[in-house]
Amino acid sequence: MRLKLRNVFLVYFVVSSTGLLYALLQLGQQCGCTRQINPGNNIHRWETPHRRGGENMPVIYVVTPTHTRPHQRAELTRLSQTLLLVPALHWIVVEDSAQRTSLVSDLLAQSELQYTHLHVQTPPAMKLKDSDPNWLKPRGVEQRNEALHWLRENRSPKDHGVVYFADDDNTYSIKIFQEMRNTHKVSVWPVGLVGGLRYEGPLVTGGKVVSFHTAWKTHRPFPIDMAGFAVSLTLLLNHPKAQFDPNAERGFLESSLLGPLVTVGELEPKADNCTKIWVWHTRTEKPKLKQEELLEKQGKGSDPKILV
Ligand code: UDP
Ligand code: MN
Repeated sequence: MRLKLRNVFLVYFVVSSTGLLYALLQLGQQCGCTRQINPGNNIHRWETPHRRGGENMPVIYVVTPTHTRPHQRAELTRLSQTLLLVPALHWIVVEDSAQRTSLVSDLLAQSELQYTHLHVQTPPAMKLKDSDPNWLKPRGVEQRNEALHWLRENRSPKDHGVVYFADDDNTYSIKIFQEMRNTHKVSVWPVGLVGGLRYEGPLVTGGKVVSFHTAWKTHRPFPIDMAGFAVSLTLLLNHPKAQFDPNAERGFLESSLLGPLVTVGELEPKADNCTKIWVWHTRTEKPKLKQEELLEKQGKGSDPKILV
C-alpha cells in the first residue's frame, strides 16, 4: 500500500512538472501577431489578427473633431492605437484651428492608419472659453460637418461605408467597430457613463428599438450620445443636406442629424440588442500645470522642443 501511494505521487510529480515546463515554453513563443515590413517606407508594422481580411469590408469612416490643449497628443495617441486594431478604417481628423498643426500632422503621418487631415475653426461666438462650463456651447460641430462635406466631395453613394463620430476623449472597445460594420441605415447601441447614468441607450423589443433608457431631456427625438450610433455612407450621401445644426438646443445635436435620415423604428440595434457597453463617454481631467507656469516665469520652464 505504502509503495503504491509513493508511485501515485511520483506519477503526479512527473505529469505536473511536464505541464509546467510546457506552459513555460509556450510563454516564450511569438503571439498570433505577425510582424510585417512595409517595403514602401520601411515602417515596421504589427498586423494583428483583428486587422486582417479588411479587403472586402465596408470602410468605417471615423470622424474625430479635435482641438489644441495640453493633453491633445495623449488623447489622439490612445485613440489612434485603438483604431490600429480595426481593419478597413479611414480616420478623418478635423482640427478646430485656423491651420493644420504640426502636432496633429506628425502624429497622423506616424500612425500607420489611413487618414484624412482637415481643419476648420469654430467661429469665435460659438467657441467655448476656458472659463465656461463645457455644456454651454456645442463642441466639434463645425468639424463634424466639415468631414461630411469632405465625404460628399470625395466619395459616391455606391461606395460601401459607414460613418462614426468618435470624439478624441472617449474609450472604444474594438467590438463596437465590429458591430457597426454592417449598417444599412443607422445602427445604435448604448454608451457608458453618459447622461448622468451608468449608461444611456435604446430599449429593444422584438429586435426593434421601441424607446430609450435616458433620464435627461427625455423628449429628445433621438436621446442618444454622439458615440452611440453610426450612419451608412450611402444614406448620408443620398441626403446631401443632412448635417449637424450648430444652433440646435443643447442635447439635440444628434437628433438634428438623424431626424431627416431615419425613424426610431428603422434604427438597427447592435451590441446584443443594446445590452452590451462597448463605448464609454469618458473625460480626461484637465492637467494641472501650475508649477510649469511658475518655472516659466523664472525662465526655467520645461524644454519647449520636447513634444508632450
Ligand atoms: N472639440 C473641438 N473644439 C472645442 C472643444 C472640443 O473640436 O473647442 C472636440 C473635442 O476634441 C472632442 C469633441 O469636440 O473630440 C467633443 O468635445 P468634448 O469631449 O469636450 O465634449 P463632451 O465630452 O463634453 O461631449
Ligand atoms: Mn468628451
